[in-house]
Amino acid sequence: MQPEAYIELENRYGSRNYNPLDVVLQRGKGVWVWDVEKRRYLDCLSAYSAVNQGHCHPKILAAAKAQMERLTLTSRAFRNDQMGPFFKEICELTRSHKVLPMNSGAEAVETVIKAVRKWGYRVKGIPKNKARIIVCKNNFHGRTIGIISFSTHARYREGFGPFTPGFKAVPFGDAEALEKAITPNTAAFLVEPIQGEGGVNVPPHGYLKAVRKICSAHKVILVLDEIQTGLGRTGKLLAEEHEGIEADVTLVGKALSGGFYPISAVLSNMEVLGVFLPGDHGSTFGGNPLACAVARTAVRVLIQEKMIENAAKMGAYFMKGLKAIQSPRVKEVRGKGLMIGVELHKKAGGARRFCEALMQKGILSKETHEDVLRLTPPLVITKSEIDWALERIASVLEG
Ligand SMILES: *Cc1c(COP(=O)(O)O)cnc(C)c1O
Repeated sequence: MQPEAYIELENRYGSRNYNPLDVVLQRGKGVWVWDVEKRRYLDCLSAYSAVNQGHCHPKILAAAKAQMERLTLTSRAFRNDQMGPFFKEICELTRSHKVLPMNSGAEAVETVIKAVRKWGYRVKGIPKNKARIIVCKNNFHGRTIGIISFSTHARYREGFGPFTPGFKAVPFGDAEALEKAITPNTAAFLVEPIQGEGGVNVPPHGYLKAVRKICSAHKVILVLDEIQTGLGRTGKLLAEEHEGIEADVTLVGKALSGGFYPISAVLSNMEVLGVFLPGDHGSTFGGNPLACAVARTAVRVLIQEKMIENAAKMGAYFMKGLKAIQSPRVKEVRGKGLMIGVELHKKAGGARRFCEALMQKGILSKETHEDVLRLTPPLVITKSEIDWALERIASVLEG
């Protein structure tokens, strides 16, 4: 079938809740993907950072295959032999005491909302139904009704009310605003260490440290949504490490499976996940043996193959090259590790057309909001691949 035929089928039968680039992909390996006409592209999106380990990583593939042949789903009515070891490994690695496995990122966010609300009532003593969670303006935490209830982005909310109460938004990167917004009923502060979908917004250095201090002083649970920043993307296992802090709860997802399977996890200290009792929460697929086996290997290869170190090194190299591009269209290049945003001036006419031009040159990327070109390749990218990309990005931005 021709690419146009696939696109026609998608458009005819699919709900059009996305506006994808018209490239029909068929195969992937490492940083590269191929379309149905065998054209090759450098993947500079990595499925929104879900394939940090590179496409179809052979070790994750082998683990997935082996587990698929043994046992895939038991439900948590029973125990399985992959879950306990996965829990131990991920908790030790992230210095957490407890973990609750879910599937998508949004489910992990929903789970933590339930947990910190219950913690607020049972531990902090907040009056019934009064618990409030502070979030940041311009946040992205997923697409459920609960989560879009505290989105500040009109596109995500319009037409979907009524919304869930109990949230308050403060400006991102402003610790003082957080402190001012805290009341005795504040249960938690939920924040991304770097806002991903919001435009690759890096807060001022010291923000997370200040936030940590404020949360501790007011007995507010600090929840870091590291679904996009976590697992090596920013050049550290978790982005919190850049400021030497520890969240009370950390959310991971996306790259937790290296792109093989939807897996997310809520990682917490004893107190927060300690509030859940049997019957409080659940998921048919959460913690299934296939997910756990895949996640164990996906995390292992990230460490063993030094992908996190590579993200730090290659990220700095990529950013330096991007900053050297002489184009009046570029307003700012920002990011950390291999989480990079190139913000264009308004007069450049939006980032989308540059994504389309890059696609013609063999690079896949995605605009975020209107004017930010996001560059987040798999963490296995090499220097020569970055040089190859830089040449093309420069020609598109300068042309
Ligand atoms: C992608 C993302 C989510 C939602 O994850 P899904 O798996 O798409 O539900 C939540 N938080 C952040 C920071 C994300 O980038």
